[in-house]
Amino acid sequence: MSLTWSTPAKIRRQAEDRATGTPAVSCTPASALNDIRPGIPISRDTAIALIRCSDHDLPELLAAARAAKERFKPGVITYSRKVFIPLTNLCRDYCGYCTFRRDPGEAGAHTMTPDEVLKVARAGEKLGCTEALFSLGDKPELLFPEMRDTLRRLGYKSTLHYLEAMCELVLRETSLLPHPNPGLLSAEWIARLAAVSPSMGLMLETTNGSLLAPGASHDNAPDKVPARRLRTIEDAGKQNIPFTTGLLIGIGESPEDRVDTLLAIRDLHEHYGHVQEVIVQNFRVKPAIPMAHWPEPSHGDMLRTVAVARLLLPEVNIQAPPNLSAPYYEELLDAGINDWGGISPLTPDYINPEKPWPHLEQLRLRTGARGCTLSQRLPVYPEFLPAVLARRGLLAKKLRAAADDQGMARTARAA
Ligand code: SF4
Repeated sequence: MSLTWSTPAKIRRQAEDRATGTPAVSCTPASALNDIRPGIPISRDTAIALIRCSDHDLPELLAAARAAKERFKPGVITYSRKVFIPLTNLCRDYCGYCTFRRDPGEAGAHTMTPDEVLKVARAGEKLGCTEALFSLGDKPELLFPEMRDTLRRLGYKSTLHYLEAMCELVLRETSLLPHPNPGLLSAEWIARLAAVSPSMGLMLETTNGSLLAPGASHDNAPDKVPARRLRTIEDAGKQNIPFTTGLLIGIGESPEDRVDTLLAIRDLHEHYGHVQEVIVQNFRVKPAIPMAHWPEPSHGDMLRTVAVARLLLPEVNIQAPPNLSAPYYEELLDAGINDWGGISPLTPDYINPEKPWPHLEQLRLRTGARGCTLSQRLPVYPEFLPAVLARRGLLAKKLRAAADDQGMARTARAA
């Protein structure tokens, strides 16, 4: 049976909420706090009441979320030691918040060569990294003849063919495990990339399709149609691929949209059991982006969204990037995250280059001050490891070599 997130009831519910601007919330924040039951995911109405709670109710919400996290993964916060490999920053989409993408010929436009890829991966290997995070624009060759020429010179038919080869190169030549984030994928491409990477990812971002309208954040971003992104996540579920997804807050969506985005992810995960982590990422203003003058979501918005994510998904890994909430990032621990995501001792965050990752020793100390131990995981979470090891071949061999008996990074280093 194929589950589809966009059941008529849900479409109707979301449309009604947006049309009236007053979602049908049947509980107050105070009663919603009373509705929280250990180990039981909260309902949509409860989530909406909580995501809109007052500053007065916020400490109680955070305490409930932190308690849920401790029931799920007590005493530990994980991170993945990684290098960032921006394979190409050419992209056919023009998201209003993106500082990564370039057009051909624009300053900084670049497609990495295989030598460059290997050089970064080997440097990361020396620093104890275990993840090669491949980030790249979505299908640039469909828009730019220059990218088609570049791919022809490199000897590949498409960006995805090149990505597959570079994942295989890193897997074969180093101890790093690739984790590709290439945008929308067909079922066939999910299967191909799964042969050379233990996990992969695609941010859902939002289920609010109205952000594709002229002047909105996804104007001129054909790969950001929510139904298409949900289809990729669902296709990964059908193939039992450990999958990273998440939401991006502050791009024009409402708090109700954030809840519905989390519910769409929850629906898919309940059906396929493959969502290994949900990232809650906050939009940050950068100069020279179309959204340079948009308001950023507040720290309170971020804490409420993380806490509600934890209560909607009590047994799913919830991640938030520390660099986008500096200098108060440890407060995200109070909201129930159990993972800091990929942290690089080598490469900058190319998506948010103005927000450097914290030094790992700082991260360890500040995590410890909140009562948790920082622990290095692999790009695939321990609970998803057995499914990947069953794939056999080079990938399983490399993964077995990288994992300790708990499924964490065997070569884990002190910060
Ligand atoms: S966010 Fe991703 S899809 Fe959007 S423009 Fe940037 S690289 Fe392209």
